[in-house]
Amino acid sequence: MVKIDLNHIYKKYPNATDYSVSDFDLHIDDQEFIVFVGPSGCGKSTTLRMIAGLEDISKGTLAIDGKVMNDVGPRDRNIAMVFQNYALYPHMSVYDNMAFSLKLRHYDKGEIDKRVKSAAQSLGLAHLLERRPADLSGGQRQRVALGRAIVRDAPIFLMDEPLSNLDAKLRVSMRAEIAKIHQKLKTTTIYVTHDQTEAMTLASRIVVMNNGRIQQIGTPKEVYNKP
Ligand code: ADP
Ligand code: ADP
Repeated sequence: MVKIDLNHIYKKYPNATDYSVSDFDLHIDDQEFIVFVGPSGCGKSTTLRMIAGLEDISKGTLAIDGKVMNDVGPRDRNIAMVFQNYALYPHMSVYDNMAFSLKLRHYDKGEIDKRVKSAAQSLGLAHLLERRPADLSGGQRQRVALGRAIVRDAPIFLMDEPLSNLDAKLRVSMRAEIAKIHQKLKTTTIYVTHDQTEAMTLASRIVVMNNGRIQQIGTPKEVYNKP
């Protein structure tokens, strides 16, 4: 069971005059698939990064399963994140990219090997483990980024526009793959996208943001099929 409580969260970057996120209040249930939508600059990434511990929270509290996380470092949050640009290490093989976060956490080699190979198998990457990111297609790189998150076996997945660098056809197939991964791993997921179809097909609830604030929260039907 993993619940995420964002209690009236605000974010002001050190050099900014205005808040980038204001009074963000959202309560996420175990295994939900939440999608953040809204115009560029409305605070979606900032909110995700605060949940991951990559940005400080200026005001308000973040609680995971009731435990306040504001002062817990990113490595000590049991959260896996997939970035828009994939953020793969260019000098490392696919294998080492996928193994990296586990090595950092001192998992033993056998366990790392088992997890990496199993994730690679399920993502169709088993034959590419020796390659470097530069020698992969866009879709393959995206799979490595997903694989790197999957091996963590974390109960929370954060994804920041993971498909936006792919062409339309790949986006459709990877979208289905992400839905399947969610069904299988049952992670509590927060997903940022500009793509209305992705939001409609993946979300249990959609959070519409504007100018750092939540404008609307609802099911895909409530958000997109207004009477
Ligand atoms: P979105 O993900 O919805 O495009 P962001 O969360 O990236 O929006 O940005 C929200 C606001 O915060 C924007 O006005 C942006 O310019 C500002 N912002 C983002 N990152 C920083 C930063 N590191 N320093 C100062 N301002 C930032
Ligand atoms: P080190 O981290 O000490 O350099 P390696 O990464 O070379 O160790 O290998 C550790 C284990 O990871 C090996 O036993 C091997 O099974 C597995 N391994 C490493 N690279 C690959 C790969 N490209 N494909 C499959 N298994 C690999």
